[in-house]
Amino acid sequence: MYNIIVFGPPGSGKGTQSKNLVREYGLVHLSTGQKFRMDLRDNSAIDELINKFMSRGYLVPDYIVLRSLFKTALQHQQSKGLIFDGFPRNKNQAVLLKKILNKKGMKIDKVISLEVEEEELIRRIMRRARKYGRTDDVAEVIHNRFVVYEAETLQLKEYYKKAGILCSVSGMAPIPVVFERIKRCINYGKAIKPYRGKL
Ligand code: AMP
Repeated sequence: MYNIIVFGPPGSGKGTQSKNLVREYGLVHLSTGQKFRMDLRDNSAIDELINKFMSRGYLVPDYIVLRSLFKTALQHQQSKGLIFDGFPRNKNQAVLLKKILNKKGMKIDKVISLEVEEEELIRRIMRRARKYGRTDDVAEVIHNRFVVYEAETLQLKEYYKKAGILCSVSGMAPIPVVFERIKRCINYGKAIKPYRGKL
């Protein structure tokens, strides 16, 4: 297995580049944000609770995130690898991720950190808001998401740097150019062959 975390602030292109990784290497894409947005359609009590946090730009409590994510992750133990997009978002999540993967004989092989300047991030989020109308892509909520990112998530860069698996990539370029940089990142660590089968 080859397991990757795609890491970066809101609007840095995590979702887009994760999809590219799926296409190129046949990995399984696990996006906590995307999963929450899909689940919200069920209107269950837990989904209402999730929506309270998401719609304000705050992190959903760890016990909810972990329950949802690990169940899915462990269903894909036989896959070529996993892409964690938007997870972990704080130190607790990172430590638990490592613990649970290790227990199953798995590990994170690479953390791709997408580096994008703040002005460009705002521009991209605004464009996304116009295109998809995400409820958390509005000014006040965007502000909260950046504050949360700086306070809780950013520290993970140091955590993964110390672990020797961080690869920083400038995301200030067209999507295919950024993806070429990401591929180089992956091949430096350990070559995984492109996937040519059916997804
Ligand atoms: P994203 O699609 O990754 O931008 O996530 C959208 C929202 O979902 C975030 O602002 C959080 O409210 C919530 N969320 C996604 N992933 C996580 C996570 N790993 N931990 C806590 N909350 C999360």
